[in-house]
Order: sequence, then C-alpha cells, then structure tokens
Amino acid sequence: MTDVLRVEGLVKRFGGLLATDHVSLTLRAKEVHALIGPNGAGKSTLINQLCGELAPDEGRVFIGPHDATHLSVPARVTLGLGRTFQVTSLLDDATLRENIALAVQSRAGHSFRIWDRVLGRASIWADTQALLQGSGLEDRADLPAHDISHGERKQLELLVALARKPKFLLLDEPMAGLGHVESQEMITRLQAIAQTTPMLLVEHDMDAVFALATRISVLVYGQIIASGSADEIRANPAVREAYLGAEDELC
Ligand code: ADP
Ligand code: MG
Repeated sequence: MTDVLRVEGLVKRFGGLLATDHVSLTLRAKEVHALIGPNGAGKSTLINQLCGELAPDEGRVFIGPHDATHLSVPARVTLGLGRTFQVTSLLDDATLRENIALAVQSRAGHSFRIWDRVLGRASIWADTQALLQGSGLEDRADLPAHDISHGERKQLELLVALARKPKFLLLDEPMAGLGHVESQEMITRLQAIAQTTPMLLVEHDMDAVFALATRISVLVYGQIIASGSADEIRANPAVREAYLGAEDELC
C-alpha cells in the first residue's frame, strides 16, 4: 500500500547549520505519527518543507504516489494535504460558519465549479452545518471569529482544514496554549478524526502524544534518532539522553 506521505533524505541548510539532516519518514494510512524533539531540533523546518513553504536543499517529498518536492502549497493541498496553520488564516470579521463555508466552497470549486449554480449555496451550508455538529462550536457559529477564545480558534482551524476533505493532516502543536479541559477536548476530537484521517503531529504535550500516537519519531539536531511505539520510545536510551533532565516528560 502506498504511504500517504513519504519523505526521502530531506536536507535543509541555514548557512552552516544542518536544520534538516537527511530525514526520511513516512505517514501510513490510519496512523497518527507524532514527531517530537527538543526546541531547535528542526520540527518546524521539516513541517514547512512538507507543506511546500520552504524548499529543501536535497531529498524528495511524495504525497501518495505523486512527487510533490517542487509543488506549491496549493498544489499540495489539492493532492490531499491538510493542515491547521497559516495556509488558511481565519477571517476575523467573518463568522465561524462563514469561515468554514469558505473552505467548503473552495473544495467544491476545484472540480465542480460548473455545478455551483445547480448545487447552489444550500449544499455548502449543509456541509458546513455537518462539520459544526458535535464540534462544540455550534452555539458560537454565528459570532465573528475575533470574538472566540484561543481554544475555540484552534477548534475552528481544525474544522476549516477538515472542510477541504484532506487525505492527511499535518498538525503543528494543536495543544499549544490550551488549558487542561480544552486539551482533553482537543485530544478527544483528534482521536475521532484519526479514525478516518492519518496525521503527522508535532506536539510538546506528551500526554497528548501518548494518547494519540500510533508511532513516535524523535528529531534531535535535524536527525531522526529513534522511531517506534510509545513503549519503544520511552525505553530508548538515546531518547532519554536527548531529554536529559526532563525524563518525567517521557513517563
Ligand atoms: P523546532 O521547531 O524543532 O524548535 P526549528 O525548525 O524552528 O526547530 O529550528 C531548527 C534550527 O534551524 C534552529 O537552530 C533554528 O535556529 C534554525 N532556523 C530555523 N529557521 C531558520 C531560518 N529561517 N534561518 C536560519 N536559521 C533557522
Ligand atoms: Mg518549532
């Protein structure tokens, strides 16, 4: 079976610094692959290369069977890449419902533009309502996006990403800035989404990582030093070394 996402020998240099040092990894169907590592390890640099925001110096990126190494961000989104940051900045003055509807419409617009008049707006609003249902944001749906909390914004960004029906998601710290209750809610949502949509998850919150990940890879100084199940990662001496002084985080 083809991997949803495959990275081969990716290299990114910033002057003399090897921010991504020959990284190879895959995202398989049905998996939540967590990428962890200390600050400055190169996680964001790697994610930016997967999205197409940053061109690698060497190596290749495949989305399904397609070589996406030189494709733009929108072209990668068309191939099924979904993500919760930067690609669709939320429209602050638009309501939550409108923000989601715009993403639904952009997906429909790709291949069904000719049907826009036929389908009309009703189907867009119906799809939007279906996404809102059970999201916890239903009663906030008609507020402008600038009126909602940071946690609700994170949920909304996730719904906007899902509105495009991605084949996989790249999540960059979905728990960042969330309180305990909000984090628990986000974990529950992500567990539900993971039933149908594989995810590559960069996350510092180890409770979330251990709750969600089917596989964990550890990035240190731009290199993947270990990859395996949660138990294998917890027991790995090189990983414990990299997190020296923070062993509790891995327990
Ligand atoms: P992480 O997300 O794991 O904290 P980053 O990918 O942000 O790590 O950074 C990896 C390394 O690359 C760091 O040493 C950082 O200072 C450096 N770096 C990141 N972006 C740039 C850039 N645009 N120019 C120069 N150095 C950068
Ligand atoms: Mg980062």
